[in-house]
Amino acid sequence: MTTVFIISAPSGSGKSTLVNRLMTGVDGLTFSVSCTTRAPRGQEIPGQAYDFIDRMEFERRIAADEFLEYAEVFGNYYGTHKSALDKAKTAGKDLVLDIDVQGAAQLKKRIPDAVTIFILAPSREILEQRLRARSQDSDEVIRRRLNDAAGEIRNYGQYDYVLVNEDLELAVEALKSIVRAERVRRIRVEEKIRPILATFGQD
Ligand code: ADP
Ligand code: 5GP
Repeated sequence: MTTVFIISAPSGSGKSTLVNRLMTGVDGLTFSVSCTTRAPRGQEIPGQAYDFIDRMEFERRIAADEFLEYAEVFGNYYGTHKSALDKAKTAGKDLVLDIDVQGAAQLKKRIPDAVTIFILAPSREILEQRLRARSQDSDEVIRRRLNDAAGEIRNYGQYDYVLVNEDLELAVEALKSIVRAERVRRIRVEEKIRPILATFGQD
C-alpha cells in the first residue's frame, strides 16, 4: 500500500533542503513531480523539478479531470497529476508531495490517510535571513514571501506534524522518523502481518 506524505512550508523554511535529504536518506520513496505554468528557475530541469506547461494545457488538464489537486500560487497554476500516484503504486513506493496549503487540504480530503507535515522556520527573522542567504529573489519578492508566510502559517493546525527547522541535522532526522513511524502504523501493516499471524494459527 502506498503511503502519501504531503509536505508544506512557507518559502524559505528549508522545505526543499529537507525533502532532498529525505529522498536520499530513506528507501522506497518517490517524489511527485508537479505540473506548473511558472517558468523554469535557475538550474531546474524540466521533468525533474516540474513538468512545465502553459496555461492552456493546464486548463485542458483541469477540464479533463487529470489532477488529484491543483491550486493557484503566486499567480501560477500548480497541480499534482493523477499519474504521479498511479506510478508510485505500480512501483510499490511511498509518495512524497511538496505542495501548498490549499493543495494539501484538497488531497487530505481525497486521501484521508495521507500524512501531512508542516515545516516552520524558527522565527520570521530567521526566515528572512534564509531567503536572503539563498539570494535567488529580489527585495520585493522577499517582502512578499514574508507576508505570505504569515498567512500560510495560520494553517499549521490542519497538519498531522509540525516540524521546526532550526538545526538542519535534527530536522532531517525528525522528518525521517515521521516516515519510518508512519510506515509501521497498524492500519498500514495489516496485510503484511497476516501471514505472520497465520503461523500462530490466527487469522
Ligand atoms: P524552501 O524550499 O522552503 O523555499 P530552501 O530549502 O531553499 O527553502 O532553504 C532556504 C535557505 O535556507 C537555503 O539557502 C538553505 O540552504 C537554508 N537552510 C535550510 N535549512 C536550514 C537550517 N536548518 N539552518 C540554516 N539554513 C538552512
Ligand atoms: P515554487 O514556485 O517556489 O517551486 O513553489 C511555489 C509553491 O507552490 C510552494 O508552496 C509549493 O509547495 C507549491 N506547489 C508546488 N507544486 C504544487 C502542486 O502540485 N500543487 C500545489 N497545490 N502546490 C504546489
